[in-house]
Amino acid sequence: MSYLNAVANRKVTPQNLPIPGTSQVANSAGGYAFPVDDWTRLSRFLVLGSEKGSYYATQTALTAENAEAVGRCIDADGERTVREIVAVSNAGRAPKNDPAIFALALAASLGSETTRKAALDALPTVCRTGTHLFHFAQFVDGMRGWGRGLRGAVARWYDAKPIKSLAYQAVKYGQRDGWSHRDLLRLAHPKPGNEARRILYHWIAQGWERIGDVPHDETDLQIVWAMEKAKLPGTTAKTVAELIRTYDLPREAVPTLFLNDSLVWEALLERMPLTALLRNLATLTRVGVLDSKAWQAHVTKELTDAGRLKAARVHPLSVLAALKTYAQGHGERGKHTWSPVGKIVDALDAAFYASFGNVESTGKRFVLALDVSGSMGYGDIAGMPGITPRIGSAAMALITAATEGKTETVSFQTSLTRLAISPRQRLDDVLKAVSGLPFGGTDCALPMVWATKNRVEADAFVVYTDSETWHGAIHPVQALREYRQKTGIAARLIVVGMVANAFSIADPEDGGMLDVVGFDTATPLLIGDLFGVFIENKRGNEPFGSLPLLFRFPLPNRV
Ligand code: CA
Repeated sequence: MSYLNAVANRKVTPQNLPIPGTSQVANSAGGYAFPVDDWTRLSRFLVLGSEKGSYYATQTALTAENAEAVGRCIDADGERTVREIVAVSNAGRAPKNDPAIFALALAASLGSETTRKAALDALPTVCRTGTHLFHFAQFVDGMRGWGRGLRGAVARWYDAKPIKSLAYQAVKYGQRDGWSHRDLLRLAHPKPGNEARRILYHWIAQGWERIGDVPHDETDLQIVWAMEKAKLPGTTAKTVAELIRTYDLPREAVPTLFLNDSLVWEALLERMPLTALLRNLATLTRVGVLDSKAWQAHVTKELTDAGRLKAARVHPLSVLAALKTYAQGHGERGKHTWSPVGKIVDALDAAFYASFGNVESTGKRFVLALDVSGSMGYGDIAGMPGITPRIGSAAMALITAATEGKTETVSFQTSLTRLAISPRQRLDDVLKAVSGLPFGGTDCALPMVWATKNRVEADAFVVYTDSETWHGAIHPVQALREYRQKTGIAARLIVVGMVANAFSIADPEDGGMLDVVGFDTATPLLIGDLFGVFIENKRGNEPFGSLPLLFRFPLPNRV
């Protein structure tokens, strides 16, 4: 009868079979997991994206799958979909804005009339820069026609932008990905409300015939003059540096000829936005600016200012990617090399923790479990070079380890290893240590099985995974229930999804289990929420002002 028992037993089911009576479906690895609902998929897509695909799906296949899930959300509740897109984009919860722009283009194309209007109304909130707007134009161009509604929304985008910031955008990126401000102005025909705006639109559409010796009287337009002036033959690096200082020229407006000059880079660095600073640390080192102790101190101060990080919507994953590339002294693809400055790597390390904002301790005991199986070593999270789900998991775990006093970190594939990593180590060393772990098959039940066997006390198991589990003799949720029964601890399971796929090891019917998204900056707060640690009025605090309600489960009364 043992062969019958294997299928009938709801307490112990091998992972290559579904647990009887549950909603489990086959995952991509030949095991069984719970399907996540479309709203969770939407969140995963908005935060993690589908660039570079996954171990199991190409970039195109994974994107198409996610687009279908977003389409189902739009059908079910278009306005909620738009609200969710706006919430993730506007609070800077995602490493990249592209998935939000893509989803907004879908809502502006596929939705009901009300949904399409809501999506177009949200255009300036989601597409904050010219580059965002170009991406939106490119996506939406393939999805629908340029009717009056769409043209009107683009015209309103231009009209609502203050002249100063529109001039800055136009100077920074005149065109991207086959779209330019000129194209969009011709399509949208915004009516300039005043003379300065008329001049700016004219310059964007047709350029200027000649450059005067002195800048335009209108201060907001002077940056355009400065950009044209920098391009004139015979201009020296010294003059370019002066133009940068006086008129706030961004790096993109500096002719290539001057981009190896330390004078020019010093001028840029004085007022460089934080996101640009992260991208340019290698160049600043290579051209010698960061040899200077004073500039090192300046950069350190900028990078570790929590208030500025938040205001600039600097995402922890951008910091992590910058740190990884900078510390290794060469680009992922490019030919350039540099000698990393230790102080700058330290500053990036501090910036990573600071960029998650103020995360409060729950006081609970955690087992942080990193899935280091083969599939986790493939693909880059949100397309960030070199940041695989495996490496990203380690960084996410460190955030919780740094906040919570009582944590135990383990890694698993088909066997489990205790990891001696800690937030006191520098992040690049931790990443190296985790990169070097052996790959293998996947058994996501191991953290719970191990804790039961070794009497490790835990209020929560946090598993960082793609939920493509298949190897174990017992399902993760069954191993958790056994742990609860044997220890009497009402332990929770928090699944940190690291790939935008359709699976989770968490049982949606169990109130003590939670699906969160890796690298969503709201994730640490959601973990606290599961324990009821954060009181209602704290939720108003940025950057977690708008939390996705889909994550809120009722807590169980007993195990
Ligand atoms: Ca795997």
